Amino acid sequence: MRKIERKNLVDAIEKMIIDANMNLDLKMVIRLKLAMEKENSPVAKSILSEIIENQDIARDQSIPMCQDTGVAVFFVDIGNQIFLDFNLEDAINESVRNAYNNGYLRKSVVNHPLERKNTMDNTPAIIHIKQVISDNICVLMAAKGAGSENMSAMKMLTPSAGRQGIIDFVLKTVIDAGGRACPPIIIGLGIGGNFEKVTEIAKEAIFRDLDDQAINPIDRALEIDLLEQVNNLDIGPMGLKGNTTCIAVKVNSYPCHIASLPVAVNIQCHAARHKEIILRGELI
Ligand code: SF4
Repeated sequence: MRKIERKNLVDAIEKMIIDANMNLDLKMVIRLKLAMEKENSPVAKSILSEIIENQDIARDQSIPMCQDTGVAVFFVDIGNQIFLDFNLEDAINESVRNAYNNGYLRKSVVNHPLERKNTMDNTPAIIHIKQVISDNICVLMAAKGAGSENMSAMKMLTPSAGRQGIIDFVLKTVIDAGGRACPPIIIGLGIGGNFEKVTEIAKEAIFRDLDDQAINPIDRALEIDLLEQVNNLDIGPMGLKGNTTCIAVKVNSYPCHIASLPVAVNIQCHAARHKEIILRGELI
């Protein structure tokens, strides 16, 4: 077994949150640069150039790349050989509290959806924990802004809607979002499961590495087709037209009921502030 000390975990996750807000994943930067080279529209080119410049400034000056520093979302895989003598969710919320205060990140969480008093420390985070076979804890984190999250959607299709029904729903969701999701976007598409599972796997999909391709050939074919079809919509960077609406489509699927075809589209804006850390702790 390995033991992870609470303070080590809290500090590492605090650092990761601040880093996520100021250092856009280099793979995303490369994709944005490639898209800029391929763009036909001068307006789209100039917007992509400004997005790239903006994240350069954020990185160089250690400031958040967007004013909406988001809700902190976590997917945590905890190994069966890891021993913790503390509550993991409480520890992660402490990291969020520390990061949003010490990193001067905007606090964007309200206590109750109708009362709407700011909790003043960006807690509670949204935390998904899963046990896996390993000797470490893998923590994936995203600072998820409201612009793209608000444009996300789910629908319980009937099985007869099939593949085309899924494609139509994704295209409609992206068209409805337009510039409000701050494109170029990443699309996380969940298909299957049930009402709650489909949104979780759609969210998990946007956490996947940009180079990652779905293993299931049906899902992979959807990733390829949807990327092309979304980029043909001429929405473009920030909704001002162009052929760069989407950087990547990631599809996650799950078995479902014979009478259901749940679909969820989670949209990630160009400020794809995702980070990953792996903690091993000490042998005990
Ligand atoms: S959608 Fe993304 S880029 Fe747009 S304001 Fe929100 S966090 Fe910022």
